[in-house]
Amino acid sequence: MGVFSIFNRPPQPFRLSPTFSKLLLLFTVSGGGLVAYSESNSSNNDAIKSSQLDAKKKRVVVLGTGWAGTSFLKNIDGSIYDVRVVSPRNYFAFTPLLPSVTCGTVESRSIVEPIRNIIKKKSGDIKFWEAECVKIDAKNKKIHCHFNNEMHLEGNEDFLVEYDVLVIALGARSNTFNTPGVIEHCHFLKEIEDAQKIRRSIIDCFERASLPNLSEEERKKALHFVIVGGGPTGVEFSAELHDFIIEDLVNLYPMLQDLVKITVIQSGDHILNMFDGRISSFAEEKFKRDGIEVKTGFRVVSVSDKAITMKGKQNEGISSIEYGMVVWSTGIGTRPVIMDFMEQIGQKDRRALATDEWLRVHGCDNVYALGDCATIHQRKVMDDISEIFNVADKDKSGTLTVKEFQDVIDDICVRYPQVELYLKSKHMSSAVDLLNNSKLKDKEESEEIDIEGFKSALSHVDSQMKNLPATAQVAAQQGAYLARCFNHMKGCEDNPEGPLRFRQSGHHRFRPFLYKHFGQFAPLGGEQTAAELPGDWVSVGHSTQWLWYSVYASKQVSWRTRILVIGNWTRRFVFGRDSSRI
Ligand code: FAD
Ligand code: MG
Repeated sequence: MGVFSIFNRPPQPFRLSPTFSKLLLLFTVSGGGLVAYSESNSSNNDAIKSSQLDAKKKRVVVLGTGWAGTSFLKNIDGSIYDVRVVSPRNYFAFTPLLPSVTCGTVESRSIVEPIRNIIKKKSGDIKFWEAECVKIDAKNKKIHCHFNNEMHLEGNEDFLVEYDVLVIALGARSNTFNTPGVIEHCHFLKEIEDAQKIRRSIIDCFERASLPNLSEEERKKALHFVIVGGGPTGVEFSAELHDFIIEDLVNLYPMLQDLVKITVIQSGDHILNMFDGRISSFAEEKFKRDGIEVKTGFRVVSVSDKAITMKGKQNEGISSIEYGMVVWSTGIGTRPVIMDFMEQIGQKDRRALATDEWLRVHGCDNVYALGDCATIHQRKVMDDISEIFNVADKDKSGTLTVKEFQDVIDDICVRYPQVELYLKSKHMSSAVDLLNNSKLKDKEESEEIDIEGFKSALSHVDSQMKNLPATAQVAAQQGAYLARCFNHMKGCEDNPEGPLRFRQSGHHRFRPFLYKHFGQFAPLGGEQTAAELPGDWVSVGHSTQWLWYSVYASKQVSWRTRILVIGNWTRRFVFGRDSSRI
């Protein structure tokens, strides 16, 4: 779907190669005692200094090794902080290629990077513990962790991690909306293991349908693939599955060709409804041509081991369809550990942790949240309008001149990004146009504006406030942003480079997080992709598929995975996908 912010690699500290160090040691030893003494003395001092520094270093605990956590890790200066990472996954997974893993277009190991490979390249001592955080104790600044001991080794698997600063990047889980039977009978597509299970299950359906003594009805049922959810993941998986079937499986199971069916159930009126309308229509038409049935306006009410029951929005009543395999992809929900934490800090009944624009969790000191588990609560301009006016009115005349307004507009735009978005949406070249457009200011250019005029001029800007989407793009940008802030924290609250504080005096220490959207892709199968690019550009077809290949290759987290992914694509073009059920 999306394009990603590039992970910036921080400058690596100068290190001596082992051979060079050995030569240096030899030279020092042979060169005489004095040199050797001064070397060891200074290294002792260094060790003392570094242990003193370590004692002073703040303990930053990062929860999660997904898009947000890994981007933070890649960018944090490990020599300033004592960084500890806790996650049940000791690898980073490139989730946008998960749908390709379900059909073997790309192998699962090609899209993961061990987290220790990433840590190894960093300066400082970053610790990783493969464990699940089961509770966040914000009052005592402790994390309760549990090691998933599948091998039942002896020993205690529970431990505590203390923190000075906590970075929560726990992501989200699949949302079932408490629909009965979903957990028991449906596949999800969120983790690597899910994609591997789906791959096996597709082949199981074909092998089952090939068994002797089955009626045609039973074969048809086994080969009915249902996808619940017409969002980017559901649509991309349907397209992948269709390609896998018509490009590879029909050659291996020719007698089953006419019995296969793919159905997408979508509760909204269109699939891909978060995309431009042209992309939704193109996708619907393409699916129609491919024989993929799209049932829009239907909500699944229950799933049994044999059938899916759904209800139409247009009074169609309740209907059921039999299936061989179901993939549930209807969006994301809150992880239990986050729900428990939200209850502790007075954020009960929310979908995600509320943070301010600096990613600080509301109601907690030194706790940051980013990625899918958090949402930024953008401050409204209208909540601070009197304070903004007072700061802007430097001469305290009770009115603003254009010059006075111009002096603060940059700070306003940084602090309240909705102002800039509003200007863009109204095609205004400068914020002064806002004042000139104000109904109360129908006088001369040089006239001043009072508080009422000011309120009226800015009254609609908050309409541009939107929650950021739960995407890898957002999570990765937030991780990099937070690490950069941490790297530049000087312990001083005021920084003239930060925007003006309107409610208090001085400046904010950092600019608030600002998301840059680089566009999003919707692969539709048959080497066709749709893309929404910045500047309201829509591009569809084969050429966009090549753009998709190049963007996804370039956004790989390491050269190793990049080469593996490109190798997998090439192998697929030459030999097709592998249908072994491993
Ligand atoms: P995640 O990446 O989910 O990471 C969460 C981390 O927390 C994981 O390491 C997990 O193991 C860890 N964790 C979980 N529970 C615990 C616990 N109790 N204790 C400690 N650690 C824990 N976005 C795009 O922008 N473009 C795309 O094309 C795209 N395609 C997608 C395709 C699929 C199939 C899926 C599922 C998602 C896709 N997304 C895409 C969305 C994107 O993957 C998410 O928005 C992104 O992963 C969010 O990053 P995150 O770091 O918040 O969470
Ligand atoms: Mg004035």
